[in-house]
Amino acid sequence: MQSFILHLSYLIGSVTFILGLKMLSHPETARKGNLVAAFGMTVAIFATIFLYKYQETRYAEFKHLGNLGWIFGALVLGTVVGTMAAKKVKMTAMPEMVSLFNGMGGACAMLISIVEYNHMAHEIATGVMVTPDMGMMLVIVLGMMIGTVSFAGSIIAWGKLNGSIKDKTIPGGQMINFVILGGILVLAIMVLGNMMPAMQTPMFYGIAILAAMYGVLFVMPIGGADMPVVISLLNSFTGCAAAFGGFLYSNPVMLTGGILVGSAGTILTILMCTAMNRSLKNVLIGSFGGQKAVAGEAKVGGGTYKEISLNDTAVVMAYAQNVMIIPGYGLAVAQAQHICHELEKVLEEKGVNVVYGIHPVAGRMPGHMNVLLAEADVPYEKLLEMEEANESMGSTNVVLILGANDVVNPAAKEDPASPIYGMPILEVEKAEHVIVNKRSMKPGYAGIENDLFFKPKTSMLFGDAKAVLQKLVAELKQV
Ligand code: NDP
Repeated sequence: MQSFILHLSYLIGSVTFILGLKMLSHPETARKGNLVAAFGMTVAIFATIFLYKYQETRYAEFKHLGNLGWIFGALVLGTVVGTMAAKKVKMTAMPEMVSLFNGMGGACAMLISIVEYNHMAHEIATGVMVTPDMGMMLVIVLGMMIGTVSFAGSIIAWGKLNGSIKDKTIPGGQMINFVILGGILVLAIMVLGNMMPAMQTPMFYGIAILAAMYGVLFVMPIGGADMPVVISLLNSFTGCAAAFGGFLYSNPVMLTGGILVGSAGTILTILMCTAMNRSLKNVLIGSFGGQKAVAGEAKVGGGTYKEISLNDTAVVMAYAQNVMIIPGYGLAVAQAQHICHELEKVLEEKGVNVVYGIHPVAGRMPGHMNVLLAEADVPYEKLLEMEEANESMGSTNVVLILGANDVVNPAAKEDPASPIYGMPILEVEKAEHVIVNKRSMKPGYAGIENDLFFKPKTSMLFGDAKAVLQKLVAELKQV
């Protein structure tokens, strides 16, 4: 009976993960999806703690799962810290938190492998096992390699996103990465082949050290526009490492969770690569992003720009037929999503058709703009993905860019020397008028100047997005 409940709990966990993931793919259901998956995870955790002894397992000591004080202490501590961090974090700092939490997942996978390696070593030393179980050892080594790379890489990504670690191009970095990978491969083969039994343990920890070095060196030179790809790639690494843990403990829910995270991360990585025009191979050998200009150092003054008043903006928008709003990182910083929705409603009352053009890497995390606008109750059907937005650009009278910069920079199409060259952009120049709201002429995340601001059809509307939109809505009500 207990064994049946255990397996039923695992099934509930696995099914809720799949349902939750499916629901996470749509802003309207994402919140509920998160709760559904969290419920499944809770069921799986408690079933594992209290009923694992009824499962067939390799290790006799698991039949008497002890250390309940430690387990519950860690559970309470993790829940408190996680809840506080999630409540406190600003939307714009979300990628940092994702990176940090992802690093913790990698660290767990690494520790699981170390513990299981020692279990096996203990069984060999006490004669329970004659030679290492090669299948198990392969899973242990892979879990540790991938988990350690993910842990070290995520911590560096976290530091880079919060500004405490600067981008650093290491001379000969690519070659060093290849040598380290080669070293990991050689040591892994020697450990798996049990080639030097006396050196088995030092070689095993050698793999961990090299994997940590690889994680650091592979993320270190990457910066600016390429960061989202790395974060989702590291996420998929953690998923794979967790899946190996599922194999080790014959735990189907851990396996399912790991596979889902691994595959979702891989799919997101591929989508991000396409959105930013980077090949996956390029990401894996850590050779890109080093040439990124440093934010704040870009030269400003590529021509003359013209400003537009709030009153003129209100008139141009009120008499337009089609308006497209393009939100970017600045909208998130200003927390202007609610007033932006207000603007949309005021315009629609005047018979203007309003849509939003969403670039896949606008903001600082995948789906950032979708989450923000969903929070402000913007109807989902008003959000056009980049391709769709570009198709309707020709029939758009006014494009209003709110705190976006890199994602509308024509250098991505026109200047082969630009660090963002090749990244698909929202082609706002195809619209009749372009109004750009930002606070100054400073560059965006990639640190490069934007020629769009100097084009004849572009007008600059300076100021904080929230303050400007509040005044614009008031003006529009008078028109
Ligand atoms: P950008 O970072 O290119 O530009 C944002 C602009 O917003 C700035 O130029 C800034 O100009 C302006 N701004 C800042 N605060 C305010 C405010 N309060 N009111 C009005 N404007 C403001 O943003 P984009 O969204 O265009 O591009 C995102 C960039 O981030 C891309 O390079 C992308 O690759 C990168 N990235 C994306 C991630 C993702 O997953 N989405 C993750 C990590 C990086 P000013 O200072 O003059 O106001």
